[in-house]
Amino acid sequence: MFGFSFPKIILLVFIIFVVWQVFRIFEKKNKLKNNLSSSDERENDSYESLVECKNCGNFYSLHERKICPVCGEKN
Ligand SMILES: [Zn+2]
Repeated sequence: MFGFSFPKIILLVFIIFVVWQVFRIFEKKNKLKNNLSSSDERENDSYESLVECKNCGNFYSLHERKICPVCGEKN
């Protein structure tokens, strides 16, 4: 006969708790991975779009403007 006994319920709760914790750890790892990769992409994007001014050494985005915002020099 199938009966609910206190130790069985405790064991069931414990198994659910362990599975839940393992799932949370995996989710955290995935989140960290995604954050790292997305920040890498952002760095690459900004690196590609930034241009150093030959006159004053200021970095600015080529996509936004073609002349330096600091000294007005065209590169
Ligand atoms: Zn400049």
